[in-house]
Amino acid sequence: MIDVIVAGGGPTGLWLASELRLHGVHALVLDKDAEPTRIVRALGLFARSIEIMDQRGLLERFLAVGQKYPLGGFFAGIRKPAPDRLDTAHAYVLGIPQPIIDRLLAEHAAEAGAEIRRGCELTGLSQDEDGVTAELANGTLLRSRYLVGCDGGRSTVRKLLGIGFPGEPTRVETLLGEMEVTADPATVAEVNAEVRKTQLRFGAMPLGDGAYRVGVPAAGVAEDRTVPPTLEEFRQQLRAVAGTDFGAHSPRWLSRFGDATRLAERYRAGRVLLAGDAAHIHPPVGGQGLNLGIQDAFNLGWKLAAEVGGWAPEGLLDSYPTERRPVAADVLDYTRAQMELLSLEPGPQAVRRLVSQLMDFEDVNRYLIERTTAIGIRYDFGEGPELLGRRLRDVGLKRGRLYELMRAGRGLLLDQTGRLSAAGWADRVDHVVDVSEELDAPAALLRPDGHVAWVGEDQQDLLSQMPKWFGAAVS
Ligand SMILES: Cc1cc2nc3c(=O)[nH]c(=O)nc-3n(C[C@H](O)[C@H](O)[C@H](O)COP(=O)(O)OP(=O)(O)OC[C@H]3O[C@@H](n4cnc5c(N)ncnc54)[C@H](O)[C@@H]3O)c2cc1C
Repeated sequence: MIDVIVAGGGPTGLWLASELRLHGVHALVLDKDAEPTRIVRALGLFARSIEIMDQRGLLERFLAVGQKYPLGGFFAGIRKPAPDRLDTAHAYVLGIPQPIIDRLLAEHAAEAGAEIRRGCELTGLSQDEDGVTAELANGTLLRSRYLVGCDGGRSTVRKLLGIGFPGEPTRVETLLGEMEVTADPATVAEVNAEVRKTQLRFGAMPLGDGAYRVGVPAAGVAEDRTVPPTLEEFRQQLRAVAGTDFGAHSPRWLSRFGDATRLAERYRAGRVLLAGDAAHIHPPVGGQGLNLGIQDAFNLGWKLAAEVGGWAPEGLLDSYPTERRPVAADVLDYTRAQMELLSLEPGPQAVRRLVSQLMDFEDVNRYLIERTTAIGIRYDFGEGPELLGRRLRDVGLKRGRLYELMRAGRGLLLDQTGRLSAAGWADRVDHVVDVSEELDAPAALLRPDGHVAWVGEDQQDLLSQMPKWFGAAVS
């Protein structure tokens, strides 16, 4: 019996598998494609995802392949510099094409001991009290204790579970690809600037190696959007929209994407859960989808590991949908708002001007950037101090940095008083007695995903909260 089958080896599934492995859980990742895709969808990581990589010791790997960009300009593409003193050590965007992000995550998952099987499509699913039976396209049956559908927006797992995916369908489609052109760079830049005055879904971005990333509105919505456009279809649309096809040739890849916005009705059905695009989709404006999926996996990993490990308190696994579904609903709304502001109709353009003026108020700009980067998320852990439910930023300690102490994926009691004890949970929670000039609290209990589960200095109060997240004490 496998502990957890992860259906889908995109960023969400790979990160989930790595998190499960931290706790010794046997994780098998299945992906239908024999090879990772070359299609470049996401272009980078925002602060919270960068922090997560830091919390697991991967920051250097990502920095080595990424390019740091300023954080301003992401909300509906409205260009405003980010405010000073954001509540993160990573106030930048780390530009990395998605296939490279996916490769780093796959390498990390494999190093952590996850088994990744490519060319394995999940086609069937059933579950009983003890586990899940997954059927693959070649007829193989696999049995696991849990299964997580990280199989993207067209999720087979979600459909097999019969979980609804309400929202708005694709109304406009965009063709996207990387290709070479015969037109000279100055002409491409000139046409790009001119067309974008009236068509924000058009763009021709030089990749620095002679090729371009080109996006152009499609003529309509294709009947089967899994079929990539042909070069001829692409060139025809370029001529229709930009008046020239730039002599486009030798495409590296061509694809199409829509603007559907949908949220799964449920994230869990018994022993099967959903995460990432399988649970939520939205247009790429604002650049949050991949980040959201990694953060889903970070929330789910330790909880599912606790369940498999037998120490999960009642309700811990259900806190995954309770915490993460509202976050996705917020991102969907945030994206809907941005899509409205991209419209060139006079009404939305007037609202865009107004929002742009409002962003000159630092608090407004800060609020938007905290939503884009996900550093402002606060889970509802009940009444309590401001820090409760938020993730704690990296803070300096006498012995180093907080995030360096979180790599094992365990809970952490950061104790500035030296008077507290988490002795009954020593196998699940590290007790760090140290001080930080940046932490304005006597002590904080962090979950493995870095969210603050308790703040205070009273031992009895701490003891009343520990079982809620870490189960029973052992003597
Ligand atoms: C044009 C574009 C630009 C984007 N830009 C950004 C950006 O800048 N920032 C950002 O954060 N996000 C961006 N996104 C969104 C991002 O690409 C996705 O949110 C992200 O890839 C979701 O990751 P995932 O692992 O959940 O799903 P996916 O990446 O879709 O991975 C799902 C995996 O499941 C596999 N699979 C599917 N069905 C099965 C099955 N039945 N059995 C086994 N395996 C299966 C697939 O082969 C695939 O490998 C963009 C998206 C698009 C389209």
